[in-house]
Amino acid sequence: MRSFTGLDYYDVDAMLSDEERMVRDTIRAFVDAEVMPIIDRHNRASTFPMELVPRMAELGMLGANLSGYGLPGLNSVAYGLIMQELERGDSGLRSFVSVQGALVMYPISAYGSEDQKKRWLPALHAGKAIGCFGLTEPDHGSDPGGMTTRADKTASGWRLNGTKSWITNGTIADVAVVWAKTAEGVRGFLVEKEAKGFSSRDITGKFALRASVTSELAFQDVELAEEALLPGTKGLRSPLSCLSQARYGIAWGAIGAAMAVYDEALAYTKNRTQFGRPLAGFQLVQQKLAYMVSELTKAQLLCLRLGRLKDEGKATAARISLAKMNNVNVALEIARRGRDMLGANGTHDEYQVGRHMCNLEAVKTYEGTHDIHTLIIGEDVTGIAAFS
Ligand SMILES: Cc1cc2nc3c(=O)[nH]c(=O)nc-3n(C[C@H](O)[C@H](O)[C@H](O)COP(=O)(O)OP(=O)(O)OC[C@H]3O[C@@H](n4cnc5c(N)ncnc54)[C@H](O)[C@@H]3O)c2cc1C
Repeated sequence: MRSFTGLDYYDVDAMLSDEERMVRDTIRAFVDAEVMPIIDRHNRASTFPMELVPRMAELGMLGANLSGYGLPGLNSVAYGLIMQELERGDSGLRSFVSVQGALVMYPISAYGSEDQKKRWLPALHAGKAIGCFGLTEPDHGSDPGGMTTRADKTASGWRLNGTKSWITNGTIADVAVVWAKTAEGVRGFLVEKEAKGFSSRDITGKFALRASVTSELAFQDVELAEEALLPGTKGLRSPLSCLSQARYGIAWGAIGAAMAVYDEALAYTKNRTQFGRPLAGFQLVQQKLAYMVSELTKAQLLCLRLGRLKDEGKATAARISLAKMNNVNVALEIARRGRDMLGANGTHDEYQVGRHMCNLEAVKTYEGTHDIHTLIIGEDVTGIAAFS
């Protein structure tokens, strides 16, 4: 298999530090050597490549941008480049790392007690524990404020009741960050897999993110100790702040998926001959390639700027929404065009384009749909919320 060189039409590399390039190249080599040979098999079988978790941990990918408790504390651009390279392999792997880092380790780091941080952060970073994030419910997706999961105060702690749906890593998680309504508003809880009354099952039949575990979680009179509460969580703002962290990584990840598609479509159309010459020599094919190069270059510059803003504390939720919305949208458009350029072969899993295209359909929906990000930006620029 060819090793991947990426696309860098505007010499964006020159704006990266040596450390950022080194991180990117390390993950790129990992994906070439250890992900590409196995990912189509996992995608076909609809299984998550658990065997890669120890390697992803060893390479420092889990919670890579968080600090303290032995965590790497990489800057936002280096972290983004990890997400980009992983999603070049498969969106399922990037989803695993996003959930573990941005949706489980981040809330523990930002809102957890000292004991919770000491217990979970090193274990989650080392891949010795796996986490999931339960916000979405069967009847409440884009509008999590309508959630019906409840945590009621008891003499010794809390009693949790409700159902969460579409939860990445749900059945493989040792600990679930669960968001529930309490008398004081929405709060987060750490629920361990052994908790009595807690059950989970996988959602099967997905045509997207097949190499990722997606589950339903059910809580029936689950008794939690007071220590299960993430004490710093207060209102819907808390889970939304976690989503901002994850959306930031997704904006970078989408570039990786789109680069994989571009790379494959370019190589394929240069080799494939129809009407006596390579497909790449036809104007209509070049138009598609030019679209890919131009949208990818814009997406790269957007993310690099957003990453620098994030390190300056200026990456607002709306700015992150813009990058997630734009980059996933163009990546999906690139994947659809790439699939078309491979003709019948584009419909087969011997090639990557179809897998990335299907994955990106789910990535466009999760972590705030494209339309919800449009409304977030609309509210930011007008001051008028148009959600309801
Ligand atoms: C593979 C996968 C993994 C996931 N992992 C997780 C996870 O780990 N944890 C978790 O909590 N959730 C997870 N999700 C859930 C995901 O975040 C939700 O699917 C998403 O928020 C959308 O919610 P919904 O599916 O209920 O769609 P809905 O909210 O029902 O939306 C359906 C459509 O209506 C549109 N719509 C909704 N409201 C409006 C409005 N006000 N104006 C205009 N249009 C609107 C939407 O844009 C969309 O097009 C995952 C989903 C998938 C597919």
